[in-house]
Amino acid sequence: MRFSDMAYVRPDIEKAKAELEALTARLKQAKTFEEADAAFLSCEKLMSGISTQSTLASIRHSIDTRDEFYSAEKEFMDESAPELEEYAQKWTLSLLESPFRGQFEKKYDPLYFKNAEMELKTFSPEIIAELQEENRLCTEYMKLIASAQIPFEGKTYTVAQIAPFKDDPDDGRRHAAWRAEAGCYSENGEKLDSMYDELVKLRDRMGRKLGFDGFTELGYLRMTRNSYTRQDIDRFREAVVKYVVPLADRIYRRQAERVGVPYPLSFTDAPLVFRSGNARPQGSAEDILANAKKFYTELSPETAEFINFMYDGELLDVLARTGKEGGGYCTEIQDYKSPFIFANFNGTADDVETVTHEAGHAFAFYTARDTVPADSASPTMESCEIHSMSMEFFAWPWAEGFFGKDTAKFRFSHLAAAIKFIPYGTMVDHFQHIVYDDPGLTPEQRHGEWKRLLGIYMPWLRLGDVPFYGEGKGWQRQLHIYEYPFYYIDYCLAQTVALQFWELSEDDPEKAWSSYMKLVKLAGTRTFDELVEAAGLETPFGDGALRGVCERAGKRMEELEKLVKE
Ligand code: ZN
Repeated sequence: MRFSDMAYVRPDIEKAKAELEALTARLKQAKTFEEADAAFLSCEKLMSGISTQSTLASIRHSIDTRDEFYSAEKEFMDESAPELEEYAQKWTLSLLESPFRGQFEKKYDPLYFKNAEMELKTFSPEIIAELQEENRLCTEYMKLIASAQIPFEGKTYTVAQIAPFKDDPDDGRRHAAWRAEAGCYSENGEKLDSMYDELVKLRDRMGRKLGFDGFTELGYLRMTRNSYTRQDIDRFREAVVKYVVPLADRIYRRQAERVGVPYPLSFTDAPLVFRSGNARPQGSAEDILANAKKFYTELSPETAEFINFMYDGELLDVLARTGKEGGGYCTEIQDYKSPFIFANFNGTADDVETVTHEAGHAFAFYTARDTVPADSASPTMESCEIHSMSMEFFAWPWAEGFFGKDTAKFRFSHLAAAIKFIPYGTMVDHFQHIVYDDPGLTPEQRHGEWKRLLGIYMPWLRLGDVPFYGEGKGWQRQLHIYEYPFYYIDYCLAQTVALQFWELSEDDPEKAWSSYMKLVKLAGTRTFDELVEAAGLETPFGDGALRGVCERAGKRMEELEKLVKE
């Protein structure tokens, strides 16, 4: 089935509500497990149908935002979804209370029920007004950032458009781009402060209304943290400071020498990895897509089947066009068991990331497409990011086809970036713990905390010479801090596992791939800890995982750097 042949029909929401209600009654009245299970499977089918139509409307709207039909359909779905939520909640509750729960857990996976229990704790009709206000503030943040007009070199740019200039090898141009962007954030500073202040207080109130001490515990539940706690994150943080920060610092000291800039680095110098410019992909968008096909075809029989499915079904829309929404994503069209990848190629290394990282997510969904219940197809976010971040490393042997003469530069910077990212990501998470532990902090105090954390996690940076960043306000650029509290650590945990896959793939590619497949095939039926164990790797919460990957990555980077010819 090709994407263009997938028919869209607006779901009948009133009918869906009635059906959900009837199914809930059927489940409650079931005399045998078989009867209860039949209601369960009917509910799966109903929800999959609605999700399919809603996803089709949303994808087609993002492909051409000027299309009035899909624009109206998306609006309809955005409004109808919360109405259905109430009925879905009642369904879930009766499923959890069902006398046949033991048999359900036996036939499907127990984790599905554990997760559903956690999800129920995050909601009560008492907080509907706060949830709506939270949505409104998040949308306001998104609109403010999307509508920013940054004057630069006689033109105006959006935040996304100015990004490629922020690692330009021309020092004057790069500094100017950073300052132009910082100026725009500074201008909106008060607004950004007050929006976040409202969000923090609102979330704290929701947490208290639901019976928690504040927001943090609710935040963990919202992220379905089903296998690790705040104390585990504390231990991870300690290991980051002990092993990753010193290695990242070494990388930056060496980089300052190589590029010829002072250490500690200015915010504006930190992104320039090579004096002659950072790695850029070679060839056209078609070349990248062709090499992606070669990569997946040669990697394994499973990925070969997957890439043919994606290309034949027209399940990628990656070229930038007028009317198309910005950014990129990977989603699933449930009834057709099809992943879908959306991107805007712009000639930077991000284009390659679309076909490695995003396609890594797509491959995991494709592999798990027959999972019942559908919610068990995907694990929690940190495990989903293992799928994608590891796939980026599995693509290393095919890097030449993507980067040509810049291949050595790419390998070096990819590995360096993976290490450099972990302290930053951990700091983003640490910051949020501080913020929600003490919701009474003033905006000024929050900036002070960010500055203090910069000293711990990013000691290679020189504060002071760029406004906004030097004032401890740089966190306002991180949309997760506003929109998805406590999400960010997921990337760091996943990176720690992805780096272990990288290490294994350097030593024994076949073993690495089969252990990756073990993890991917378990889909969402296991917790993060269990998935990592099933793959034969170490969880990030002890001392060993980070110590090991840092040792190995440090050595390998020295070799890779020698291969770069500037
Ligand atoms: Zn991802």
